[in-house]
Amino acid sequence: MPETNPDDANVDACIETRLARHRRGSILLVVILLLLQVGCSAARRTPYFVVLGTGQDAGVPQAGAFDHPGWTNPGLRRAATCLALVDPRTGRQWLFEATPDFRMQHRLLHDITGASRLDGIFLTHAHIGHYTGLMFLGHESMGAKGVPVYAMPRMRSFLETNGPWSQLVRYDNIDLRPVEDGVTLDGPDVMRVEPLVVPHRQEFSEVVGYRIEVEGLRLLFLPDIDSWAEWDDAGTRIE
Ligand SMILES: [Zn+2]
Repeated sequence: MPETNPDDANVDACIETRLARHRRGSILLVVILLLLQVGCSAARRTPYFVVLGTGQDAGVPQAGAFDHPGWTNPGLRRAATCLALVDPRTGRQWLFEATPDFRMQHRLLHDITGASRLDGIFLTHAHIGHYTGLMFLGHESMGAKGVPVYAMPRMRSFLETNGPWSQLVRYDNIDLRPVEDGVTLDGPDVMRVEPLVVPHRQEFSEVVGYRIEVEGLRLLFLPDIDSWAEWDDAGTRIE
């Protein structure tokens, strides 16, 4: 892990506070934190991660869970699992997963970094919480141009051959890029990304996690796994 400095600690506090603000939805805090935003952006000098969601595919509260307190208490809501990697020196930023909460998460990332660009999206698998946010890149929404989407072979084929995802490919809203189990992708830019196949239901695609390495910072992004023992038995080493 790289050394931390007071600036970084301040930024972490800024981001955590901003996430809390998002949950609370306080107008007053929005104003205060917009001012803090300047400090956050100015302080960052090295790549960093932003956790944009930690919930299950369908978020919290779930559809139909009418008694969940999150309907009246925004602090108890959770967006679907999503991670961003940001390089403040170049302004480039990448997402890991395109979730059903993409609109809010893209906005939150913009609030934190001041940038709207997406330099790539890494997908883990074809369950609803992990890829359906791609629809917001399409003709009916952002009309994005050639956003690189990194995915395993079955996942790419799934997107290429099933609507509405195939339209994203046909209209060049997304540019599908290959990743391969156990093979490190040395781009894009500053990071090394290695997909690792994990045991989890594979109805429509492979299921992977990502080992991410960026300037001495190492992180395992693993949103879904059914059995750690099975993964271990398969010989996967993450140390
Ligand atoms: Zn899943």
